[in-house]
Amino acid sequence: MGRRKKNSKKFSDNQKICENKISEKLNSNKKEEKTEKREEDSSILKDTITVYQRLKLSLVSSMQHRSPDDSDEEEDAAVLNFWPRFVFVSNLCLICMERSEEVCESCGMVSYCTVKHKKQGWQKHRELCQVLTDVCTNGKGLSFLPDLTADDYRVYRLKLIEIVECRLKRLLEPWEKEILLYPRVCCSCRYFSKVLKYCPTCGIELFCENHDDKHEEWCRDFQVFRRVLFMQHKNGHVDPEIPDTFQNSPLYLPDNFDLLMVQLYNRSTYYCDMDCYTYCSLSHISTIPLTTLYSMQISCRDWKTIDTFVIHVIGAEFQFECINLHVWEKFFLHLLPNLKHLRLMFIGPELRLPAVPLDLLTTVKLCSTCKSFGRRVNISFHPGKFYHNFCRSKQFIKPHLVCLFNPGLYRETGFEGRDTWPETIKEFCKTKVPVCVTSYTKHEIPREMIRIKSIIDVETILEPKRNPFASIKPDRNFVSDDAVPLIYKNYYFAIIRGKL
Ligand SMILES: [Zn+2]
Ligand SMILES: [Zn+2]
Ligand SMILES: [Zn+2]
Ligand SMILES: [Zn+2]
Ligand SMILES: [Zn+2]
Repeated sequence: MGRRKKNSKKFSDNQKICENKISEKLNSNKKEEKTEKREEDSSILKDTITVYQRLKLSLVSSMQHRSPDDSDEEEDAAVLNFWPRFVFVSNLCLICMERSEEVCESCGMVSYCTVKHKKQGWQKHRELCQVLTDVCTNGKGLSFLPDLTADDYRVYRLKLIEIVECRLKRLLEPWEKEILLYPRVCCSCRYFSKVLKYCPTCGIELFCENHDDKHEEWCRDFQVFRRVLFMQHKNGHVDPEIPDTFQNSPLYLPDNFDLLMVQLYNRSTYYCDMDCYTYCSLSHISTIPLTTLYSMQISCRDWKTIDTFVIHVIGAEFQFECINLHVWEKFFLHLLPNLKHLRLMFIGPELRLPAVPLDLLTTVKLCSTCKSFGRRVNISFHPGKFYHNFCRSKQFIKPHLVCLFNPGLYRETGFEGRDTWPETIKEFCKTKVPVCVTSYTKHEIPREMIRIKSIIDVETILEPKRNPFASIKPDRNFVSDDAVPLIYKNYYFAIIRGKL
């Protein structure tokens, strides 16, 4: 989605003006809202700025600003490619995603901002409400939660989904499953009640009367989570402009996403005016190529001079790794002037391609400069395929780098009941090239390393560390929600290589 700028106005340079302008821009999107909410939004914004953008803002010394008045026209000019699905959050309104004040009296599991939206939502909610009330509320399905262990609690929630689907005689939509996956219970003890208080700051986490409504450690992340969901619900996906600069000599990435962006956007208005949602989206679509490039620079000695580079992405998921492929041109071809040919191979049993002509998915539109030098980004998908089978197929080309993004190797539940990771691990170690592995959380990455080492002998090129190019767009955590409630793609990473 391209965003056109109608006109722009010059402002003098300092951080305060920049912060104020971004606050203004965000608030101008929500003119209809109460003053109270405006203040709250600008404080969320300040928080986000403090954490993610302070460095960036302080480094920007001169900038241009759009006038806030033309923001509406700009919204009109936006063209949406596809709309993200609705995400259910127990304390956000089922209709508009504002903070809830009204809970459904019957099931007590969904909520609305106002009585008006509750009435408006009733017809649509009625069928599911009946079953939720029978199974969970009157049926006391939620009364056992406080006594379960973390693992049993996960199994139990999946079981509840099954029971509800069986009663309804249909499968639940993803957002309906979220009503049961992330139920309206106290975040501290899992006590269910139709009367719970919510954290006044983030408006998301719920507490029973025995628990304090404070959760400092995660509140800021939940504020960003709410902001992102709200903007996504209102505006659909944003497609941030990726900085487009040609480097004369290979660019060595700094250890910091903000620093890199400041350098690449070269003080542009666009970057200075970027709101929290666009910024999260930018990091989200950049994390795959940047984590890959960063790993390449750490582990491939000839990264500056190599002219053909082949990357295998194992266990790829279409929605995450396989869209936004244009970003690879900007972050590989434009930052590495000696690289002529980038070849990306996506392989995975769970990789499913949408039913559109294949060349629509594999064509990466290159800029005229890249074209005139005959540079290429070549994409191939190997859906429904295990890596060990791919390695024995004709399509196999030896990689220079192998990547596994958030694979969860340590989980032995496997694919369709069979644990196939050991075969895949053996195979990617046999390539004897660097293998980058990332994880959603700090505590998962050592488990990934233990799993690999339990199968085959490897050398460690980079010990697990925090990834400076992780996504900063929060997701809810189900798999290890007892450890952390929100997770970030590629949060930690490590690099290993099969022993020569
Ligand atoms: Zn509402
Ligand atoms: Zn209900
Ligand atoms: Zn509680
Ligand atoms: Zn909070
Ligand atoms: Zn180009």
